Amino acid sequence: MWWFVIRTVPVTVNAQELNVHEGVSVEQLLEDNDAFGVTAGNLVSVGGNVITEGGGARATVSVNGEEVPADQFAQRGLMSGDELEVSDGTDVQEEYEESVESLAPGLQTDGTGAIQFVSQWGQAGEKKVWTGKQSEEKVDKEVTKEPVDMVISYINPKPKDGNKYLALTFDDGPSKYTGQILDILKEKGVHATFYNLGQNAEANAALCKRVVDEGHEMASHTNQHMNLPNESRDSLRNEISSAADRIEQASGFRPQMIRAPYGAFTTTEWARSADLISCNVLWNIDTLDWKRPGADAIKQEVLSNAYNGAIALMHDGGGDRTQDIEALPGIIDGLKEAGYKLVTVKELMKLDGRFPDDVINGTVKVPEGAVMPEA
Ligand SMILES: [Zn+2]
Repeated sequence: MWWFVIRTVPVTVNAQELNVHEGVSVEQLLEDNDAFGVTAGNLVSVGGNVITEGGGARATVSVNGEEVPADQFAQRGLMSGDELEVSDGTDVQEEYEESVESLAPGLQTDGTGAIQFVSQWGQAGEKKVWTGKQSEEKVDKEVTKEPVDMVISYINPKPKDGNKYLALTFDDGPSKYTGQILDILKEKGVHATFYNLGQNAEANAALCKRVVDEGHEMASHTNQHMNLPNESRDSLRNEISSAADRIEQASGFRPQMIRAPYGAFTTTEWARSADLISCNVLWNIDTLDWKRPGADAIKQEVLSNAYNGAIALMHDGGGDRTQDIEALPGIIDGLKEAGYKLVTVKELMKLDGRFPDDVINGTVKVPEGAVMPEA
């Protein structure tokens, strides 16, 4: 049976001569020679972790300078004179499923100032995610659509019609002092802005309604005067929503404008509740009335720091407000003498010209398709 005799032919492996059966496959050659001592690659996860040591390519092989793909080792036969290079095998990545997931927008702030509002709503982006079939690891791959960040603008209102304007604001009411403050404002013919606590609006519903009926601006100081950054997402949202409910029930007006207690309202609070409010209003002049420094000191604080567009902080609740009541007529008269028109915060925003109408009017609706940042 001479025609079954198998010829041996010379090849070189890493520059060493070797006789092999003519036509032997690369795979068989590696097996017969313990892969010439090279180390196999690993099977690795989509996240780059080793799943099986040595579970990758057995070796890296090139024949006459051309690399043979590992999945063709069994098909590739060798001929006389072939020159092989055999080196360590490469890692092989597990199989994976590709999916598209949405990417939440970030949050940016713009400017500095006492009034904060959403000047740009966020849009979701998209990213490709690989999930390893063996490891079940999830890895973010490329971003296929960049998200649009939400932007909170901070502005100090600056009316530019040549007149001087200032907004007096009262926090923490309504309380037993609110009626006297309303009497003074009525007598002087000016309007102010009231940041009522929801729980106080409920307890003093008639005063809450009087604020609105007498043409003042009603806004929310949230429900129970909590330091909002210490609250959970749900508690924060409840502080805002329940206050709006109670103020609406008492006065017939549902405020979207808030002033966060202590002015404490970070980007996290914005990301968690931007759909519930039109703006958060801080202040430019702090009378420090809560320290009860005397009616004259409260008055001087406002008069000596007044400027066009300023928002002054006073209180009609939260403690003994007799000094505020005593100071108020002099504050109003002094400001009028200095040429100021006393307006509400809403009017200041309107006079400024940079605030969107829905923020001014407290009718903000989240646009369709807008997405909140994660927080
Ligand atoms: Zn307060």
